[in-house]
Amino acid sequence: MKLFRLLPLTLAACLLLAGCGGKEEVSSPKPQVPTATATVTATETATTTATAATTTTKKPTTTTEAPTTEVATTKAPVTEVPTTKKPTAKPTTKAVAPDSVSTSSKGYEIKTVGGVTYVDGVLVANKTYGLPASYYTGGLTADCDRAYDSLKAAAAKAGYSLYISSGFRDYETQEVIYNRYVANDGKANADRYSARPGHSEHQTGLAIDLNGVSDSFGDTPTGKWVAAHCHEYGFILRYPKGKEAQTGYMYEPWHIRYVGKDVAKKIFDSGLCLEEYYGITSEYQN
Ligand SMILES: [Zn+2]
Repeated sequence: MKLFRLLPLTLAACLLLAGCGGKEEVSSPKPQVPTATATVTATETATTTATAATTTTKKPTTTTEAPTTEVATTKAPVTEVPTTKKPTAKPTTKAVAPDSVSTSSKGYEIKTVGGVTYVDGVLVANKTYGLPASYYTGGLTADCDRAYDSLKAAAAKAGYSLYISSGFRDYETQEVIYNRYVANDGKANADRYSARPGHSEHQTGLAIDLNGVSDSFGDTPTGKWVAAHCHEYGFILRYPKGKEAQTGYMYEPWHIRYVGKDVAKKIFDSGLCLEEYYGITSEYQN
């Protein structure tokens, strides 16, 4: 019994260590990485949410229907990591950003309070602006959740089916996901498509990965409809095509971010990504 319980822990520890080193230069390209995210998230979010004895539990797991069969390739029993105790005990390398107020290159106020940064009042989580490990909404925020319901209903009316593959993801879950990508694909590659823990927009409870989490989603009628209409419900396509230098991430047609209708419309009309619109960066300090 004891041995049985220890084994997954040991494996998980090895996996995490491998992730920290990140020295394996796996040469393989990373085709269906996003799909892998979906799977991992589906299982892990569920377990983490269950054990995370934290406050709010609006919508525990947003993951549901996503048929993620092809991705069974994910190695080790990482799914068990969050379930065991509280992995928060290990030292967090990330220091919380001190409170500060500054102005962006486009004149918007950048305000950091308690480690959380707002640009012109909009919460921003990217490579420059992180979140404390303790930032935990436990699910999509009420506003985001409501907006998504409207978006989904409108899509259905237009003949398109939307579902959430991944919504809220806590710090520890992101840590497991990111470390695995680093171990498998190298840090430089992983940084192009997976956020370091404390920098994922999914930790804000304001981001949603839609449908199959696939690159081809943007070319489907459903994906095109989302790109053309999600701003009407308060969402923006957070990582548009051709904006990797600004957002810090590869094109993700499936990832939408709730910013509210007014802001969403302004950003949509501008044709800019969020970083360009506000005149902020998305770059890790190291
Ligand atoms: Zn996403």
